Amino acid sequence: MLGILAEHGFEIVENEEDADVIIVNTCTFIDSAKNESIECILELSQYKNGGNCKALIVTGCMAQRYKEQILSEMPEVDAVIGTNEYDKIADVIKELDNDKTDLLWCGAGNPDEQNLPRIRTTPSYTAYLKIAEGCDNHCTYCVIPSIRGMYKSRMIEDIVSEAERLAEDGVRELVVIAQDTTAYGKDIYGEYHLPELLKKLCAVNGVDWIRVHYCYPELVSDELIEVFKTEPKLCNYFDIPIQHSSDTILKKMGRHTNKAQIVGLIERIRREIPDAVIRTSLIVGFPGETEEDFENLCDFVRKIRFERLGVFAYSREEDTPAYSFDNQIDDEEKERRRDLIMMIQSEIAEEQNTEKIGSVVRVLVEDKDEIIKSYYGRTYADSEEIDGKVFFKSDRRLTPGEFVNVRVEQAMEYDLFGAECDACE
Ligand code: SF4
Repeated sequence: MLGILAEHGFEIVENEEDADVIIVNTCTFIDSAKNESIECILELSQYKNGGNCKALIVTGCMAQRYKEQILSEMPEVDAVIGTNEYDKIADVIKELDNDKTDLLWCGAGNPDEQNLPRIRTTPSYTAYLKIAEGCDNHCTYCVIPSIRGMYKSRMIEDIVSEAERLAEDGVRELVVIAQDTTAYGKDIYGEYHLPELLKKLCAVNGVDWIRVHYCYPELVSDELIEVFKTEPKLCNYFDIPIQHSSDTILKKMGRHTNKAQIVGLIERIRREIPDAVIRTSLIVGFPGETEEDFENLCDFVRKIRFERLGVFAYSREEDTPAYSFDNQIDDEEKERRRDLIMMIQSEIAEEQNTEKIGSVVRVLVEDKDEIIKSYYGRTYADSEEIDGKVFFKSDRRLTPGEFVNVRVEQAMEYDLFGAECDACE
């Protein structure tokens, strides 16, 4: 949307108080995301009362899901644009300028992503690269397939040419995303093509790191693991959301894997790639999750010792099968279970980080914290925004986006601390 607006001559400003038009791009995946979106809309609507702002537009997943309610219950909102019509953003603003209001653009559009201009909001050295949209998995707790539709892959050559443009623009790290990256290609090529796509992306000059998010466990094939093993640019960072370890709960969630398959996959990855970092996410408090199921999950987390882990309390979402499942668990109990898993994991994370003291890690420099006079950055094991950082001293003047070696001297549960050094061990 930023790219389209710039192309139509709109000026993008940094602060909301300077804006004539404010656009809130929303999420609706779980309750907390929805609440955050609503709070943000209400907070920004204040700029319409006596401020500069003449129009407030809500876009994204919450807009698509609750279009009518947003317009009827939030009078401060002037237009709602759904996930399939965001390419109409400039037209909508022009209509609002003609004194039209309460506009609803939530149809079944199909934006031509390949030819849409792009302005990135991530730091200059890193960029998300979306390879597909939608999902066919239909996990019973998830609203995404009903909002985003069926899985739709982009063509390999389109993705690669976008990667080339990003590299020419100074991007050193590509973060490959989709609702399920492992499903890539089946809809357009008749077979899964993520390994082939990744090989082609690794051949793009100028890119140093390629990171892949959201792999569905069932689809992490030997061929895919082999590509990770052999392509040095591919970060050995496996983001594989498994959601649970109890077979009963996995089945109720509509997941296609069981505990034995998940354990087998993790063993395979660790055997083939000893420095693999495995990230997963879990849902606790799913309807019918017994104390026994939960204990099963706690034991699993203790045994597997994931390098990275996120835990969510189950969010009961309308229009999903799990919404009407029996034995919903109360919020307090869900929070208790989430906190317990986080406690188990934080001990594991601290132990794993402590083991790194004395080693040398390769770090992508992000910036300098002038208050503590320390540079910071990330290793291959840390993804932007969700993982920890490495804080380090250096006698040199470093630039964001360059790579340095850092000797680790101290560790906390999520962050490492050290100093720049010459050689990599
Ligand atoms: S794979 Fe992810 S996006 Fe798809 S239905 Fe399941 S949770 Fe939702």
